[in-house]
Amino acid sequence: MKRILLILTGGTIASVETEQGLRPGISEEELRESLSGITDFCQVEILSLLNVDSTNIQPEHWQMIVQAIEKRFDCYDGFVITHGTDTMAYTAAALSYMIQNPHKPVVITGAQKPLVKTVTDARKNLRDSFRFACEENVNGVFLIFNGEVILGTRARKVRSKSFNAFDSINYPIVAFIDNDRVIRYVDISGDSGPTSFYSHLVPKVFLLKLVPGITPDILDYISDHYEAVVIESYGVGGIPFADERNFLEKLECLNRKKCIVVIATQVMLEGSDVELYEVGFRAMSRYHLLQAYDMTTEAIVAKLMWLLGKCNDFESFQKEFYTPVSCDLLRCE
Ligand code: ASP
Repeated sequence: MKRILLILTGGTIASVETEQGLRPGISEEELRESLSGITDFCQVEILSLLNVDSTNIQPEHWQMIVQAIEKRFDCYDGFVITHGTDTMAYTAAALSYMIQNPHKPVVITGAQKPLVKTVTDARKNLRDSFRFACEENVNGVFLIFNGEVILGTRARKVRSKSFNAFDSINYPIVAFIDNDRVIRYVDISGDSGPTSFYSHLVPKVFLLKLVPGITPDILDYISDHYEAVVIESYGVGGIPFADERNFLEKLECLNRKKCIVVIATQVMLEGSDVELYEVGFRAMSRYHLLQAYDMTTEAIVAKLMWLLGKCNDFESFQKEFYTPVSCDLLRCE
């Protein structure tokens, strides 16, 4: 029988009702009772690591999760992490950079309704995750929800209430779990490279969403306090340069301060192509900027935190940023 480590971090899946709303607090006994019917095909050990609503998840928690896995890596065939859904896509992306080429499944899952409720998606999501964690020839970090297996670098929460809460962005769902059958659509056996763990992150990444009317002085604050900024602009990507709201001069300051800038898009699907319009071309041709292409915002944020700990100059940063990790980036010309 395969040995799987279940790592608990909290979230709705582990929540109980309180007078102040849902809060993670399921008892170990209730958890074991719920697991008994859904893990009959594997041997599960439990590590209670955190007990937080995922709104409170921080990069330091990602480091804790990665260290917990690294320490026990050789003792298990697969890992299942339960987590709140709200920031799960960020955690899935972060773990994809921090645990590369695990050559075994690292799965993250959660639920929209608590495990202790009669009507819940928790049981299915857990069973699917354990089923997938027992698979052979799986290499990577995956988010499993509503029967779908999504690459950790491609997940996004797209519904706040329904059971089909997650989508795979700009990449196919890699597998589907139909009861006890895992149907693979994409080769997920990965490359044969060695397993690498990274625990150093620099969380000084800011995400700025442009809206009509925003003024460029916000970038002064950002570049004084952060080492990288993702500018979620519009469409295929552009930077406003009209009149008193001209962002271009500020990009020059960001370059001088060595603050990394990534132009991304608010549009969920299909990604950026910043040089297509003059509004993007002007910025890209004058300054040292990176663009998102087909990467998700969650993956960009996590990749920047990982690379800020690794690269010292723009050229090496650019090279590493555009080097795909766990299929986070396909289109990059
Ligand atoms: N607020 C919860 C959390 O992210 C929502 C959930 O788990 O579905 O922890």
